[in-house]
Formats: sequence, C-alpha cells, structure tokens
Amino acid sequence: MPAGVTPFTYQAAPMRVVFGRGTLAAVGEEMARLGRSRALVLSTPPQQASAEDLAGSLGDKAAGVFAEATMHTPTDVTARALEVLEGSGADVLIALGGGSTIGLGKALATRTGLDQIVIPTTYAGSEMTSILGETEGGRKTTRRDPSILPETVIYDVELTLTLPPAMSATSGLNAIAHAVEALYAQDRNPITSLMAAEAIRALGTALPRIVAAPSDIAAREQALYGAWLCGAALNAVGMALHHKLCHTLGGTFDLPHAETHAVVLPHATAFNAGAVPELLAPITDALGGATPGRALHALAKEVGAPIALRDLGMPEDGIDRAAEIATENPYWNPRAVDREAIRALIAAAWAGDTPS
Ligand code: NAD
Repeated sequence: MPAGVTPFTYQAAPMRVVFGRGTLAAVGEEMARLGRSRALVLSTPPQQASAEDLAGSLGDKAAGVFAEATMHTPTDVTARALEVLEGSGADVLIALGGGSTIGLGKALATRTGLDQIVIPTTYAGSEMTSILGETEGGRKTTRRDPSILPETVIYDVELTLTLPPAMSATSGLNAIAHAVEALYAQDRNPITSLMAAEAIRALGTALPRIVAAPSDIAAREQALYGAWLCGAALNAVGMALHHKLCHTLGGTFDLPHAETHAVVLPHATAFNAGAVPELLAPITDALGGATPGRALHALAKEVGAPIALRDLGMPEDGIDRAAEIATENPYWNPRAVDREAIRALIAAAWAGDTPS
C-alpha cells in the first residue's frame, strides 16, 4: 500500500531569485524591473572594495556605499546607515555580503519600506527569510514581518569563490542546520521536505570538495544552490531545539554564529533522531553514516569545522547556565526537552564528543 499524504499548508514567499555565474551584471536590469533608479550599496568593511566596484559599475544608478555592516545588526549602526540613506536619495537597497550585511539591509527596509536586492556571498540563508535579528544594548530580539523579506535575490557563484575554506565549511553547516530542522518541523510540508533533503545532499557533497579545492566552481555552485534551498526552508517552517540552543549559547557566551551551529548540529540532531528516525533518514541517505548525528559529526570533522564549544571560548561552568536558559521557556520540539537531557547534550557539545 502506498503511504498517504499528511494534510499540510504551504505558502510560497513572493520573491524573485536569479542564480548563475556572473549574474552580478544583472543588477541594473533587476533595479529597472523593480522600477528603481538609485541604489545604496551595503557591505561590511572587508567587502567595501567589492561594494565600491559594484557602485562604480552602476554609474549614476548608484547613490553611494555604506560599508559598516557588522554582526548581529546593532541598532546604532542601522541608525547611522539611515542617516546616510536619507541623504543619498536612494530608492532601493542593495546588500552585497553575508548575513551581517543582509541583516542591515532588512533593518533599513523594514524602517523605510524600500525594496531590497540582495546578493549573498555566504551560505547563511538570511536572504530568503522575513526574519530579522537586531541587537540593542547587547540584547538580541528576533522578529518576522513581510516587510523584511527581500524582493530580489541575485546568487552569483563567482562571488563565493573568495569565501575562505574554513568559513565555507561553517557557513555551509549553518545552512544544513536550517534543512535538518525543516525535516522534522511541526509545520513541515512536502515542498519544504523535498527542499531540505535536496539541500543536505547538495551541501554535503559540495563542502568537502570546496575545502579541498576552494576554486572548484561546480562545487561552489552546488553549495550556493543548497544554501538557497536551506534559506527557503528556514523561511517556510518553524525551527526547534537546535536553533534555540544556538541562540542561547551565542547570546549568553558571545560565541561566533556559524561555528556554534556547526558544533551543536550533530548533537541536537542525535537528541531528536530517536523520536523521528524516519523524518531524519534523508541525512544518512545523503551523507552515509550509522546515525544522522554521527553523519553530521563526520561531515564537520571532514571539512575541518570546529567540533567542541570549548574551542569557541565557552567556559565549562557555563554548561549549567546554558541548560537552564535553554529550557526555561517551553517550545515545540519533536522530543520533549528536559533540563537534564539538555545539560548532557550541551556537555557533549562542549567536550566535542561523538554523538550517538
Ligand atoms: P557575515 O555576514 O558576518 O560574514 C562574515 C565575514 O565574512 C564578514 O567579514 C564578511 O565581510 C566576510 N565575507 C562574506 N562573504 C565573503 C566572501 N564571499 N569572500 C570573502 N569574505 C566574505 O557571516 P554570515 O555567517 O553570513 O552571517 C551571520 C549573521 O547572519 C548572524 O548575525 C546571523 O544571526 C544572521 N543570520 C540571519 C538569518 C535570518 O534569516 N535572519 C539567517 C542566517 C543568519
């Protein structure tokens, strides 16, 4: 007897995606498609030269460059950018960079109503979501709003060639984390399940190749394609234990974003695997391995990603505090979350143990 189909609700996000090599050249055309004529280009300080080059190529369609984007979208940086934006006469925002730059673009768009063209250069996936995390006075708040979702995303594989192998590995594992939690999301649907399984296959194959040969453009193509699917899945369904833990650990101990995801993912996956083995089967189908947690742990080791929270600077006496914070408010997860079990999970991730 063939299996039936569980009832579902699926809402596609209203976005345009342009994917390929050299697609950066399409920015002017994409501005015209949106009916816009002057763009403020955003970037981080290390990517300022690329942002200036893009502005130069746009000629009088560029209203300027603001290259002060930084991690966690601090509201004081957004306030400075708003001043520059208001004085620039720009009618569209272009974010060229990773999640930090994209976060700044989203913060400006939701405050001004301007359209966003996003050109992602990492695998974090923020470009596909209507989610914005901002920090004010060291406190991070996260919200979802349709005004945050970018209108157009241009994926140019050539821009990812400069992403260093170590960052490619952790950024790719950060993306895979969205797909893993999409597989068992309470509000999953057949489309997000297909996207998640395909994303794990694409990134799982591509990341070891990228680490071995960072200029392997076919592997870069697979990774960016996988990252797109991961971001789309992240936007479409709710996340659970893994994202909650990373948010808690990152916020409490100021740990780096992508690296924290890379370390925690095998352990959070192993924790949930016993509760939903059939939903997590796409992980071992794609990566091999005895269990989903071990498969992800082996992938992290193969690509040279960090595997222990202690190596990211988390103090051992923080394990209890993290378990406390991660379990103080109830949230949905495929396996019930209790303090002792979460403490054991965090302790294993802290030490870099092989998960079950
Ligand atoms: P990032 O944007 O902070 O980039 C890290 C560094 O890499 C920066 O210095 C950047 O300039 C550099 N860089 C980026 N692309 C490069 C390239 N191709 N070549 C060389 N250098 C490059 O890192 P990230 O991991 O992309 O983003 C992390 C942030 O994104 C976090 O604040 C996280 O919370 C957020 N995020 C948000 C969502 C969402 O949906 N809202 C999703 C994922 C991540």
